[in-house]
Amino acid sequence: QTGESGYRRVLLKLGGEMFGGGSVGVDPDVVGTIARQLAEVVANGVEVAVVIGGGNFFRGAELQQRGMERARGDYMAMLGTTMNCLALQDFLEREHGIDTRVMTAISMGQVAEPYIPRRASRHLEKGRVVIFGAGTGMPYFSTDTAAAQRALEIGAEVVLMAKAVDGVYSADPRTTPSAELFENITHREVLERGLKVADATAFSLCMDNHMRILVFNLLVEGNIARAASGAKIGTLVST
Ligand code: UDP
Repeated sequence: QTGESGYRRVLLKLGGEMFGGGSVGVDPDVVGTIARQLAEVVANGVEVAVVIGGGNFFRGAELQQRGMERARGDYMAMLGTTMNCLALQDFLEREHGIDTRVMTAISMGQVAEPYIPRRASRHLEKGRVVIFGAGTGMPYFSTDTAAAQRALEIGAEVVLMAKAVDGVYSADPRTTPSAELFENITHREVLERGLKVADATAFSLCMDNHMRILVFNLLVEGNIARAASGAKIGTLVST
């Protein structure tokens, strides 16, 4: 379903670190830029679901290294992702008048709906942006895995994996200047070459279920709309 007609339903995965603009907390400039680009995607008639990471607040594994219990750290980190979701919701609604729903994997009724898959699909059909918070709701998982799982469950056609680089390279372009940027690559080739697109759990979910992943550069203005329209940017991982 790629090409001129673009995608009908996409799942956008945003890393928490970008949301924080490199520090702890939320950077309104970054959130504003992302909201503006998402407004473009919605205007193009694409159904958009979003999963946001939480690295700008906490990571369970890091808290564990500092002596905390891993699962508790993971729960703290999942709550952190929800703050990012609320920030994005605010910018989408206030600056662009776009209807949004935050749906969380951990119930917090005052600020978000619980994640109910069929309700999420209804929201999307009505043109609302659905923002999934609190990851999968389970410690030891990642928001990449939440992105893969949600994409599969709501029938998204692709996971748009926003990064701070242009796509998937044959080697680290910072240390290997001759590194080649792939336009297309298969899931299997990613594994065989030991390349990193997402964490292993998330990636194997996508591979096993033929979920496409488009890795693209979020730092280029307009790239979210390009990615959602099926334009040839970044690296498309498919079967
Ligand atoms: N997390 C979790 N289960 C999930 C999703 C996230 O326990 O299903 C926790 C985990 O501690 C993770 C943190 O939330 O490190 C933030 O998520 P992630 O590292 O995926 O965020 P990103 O790197 O995308 O900002």
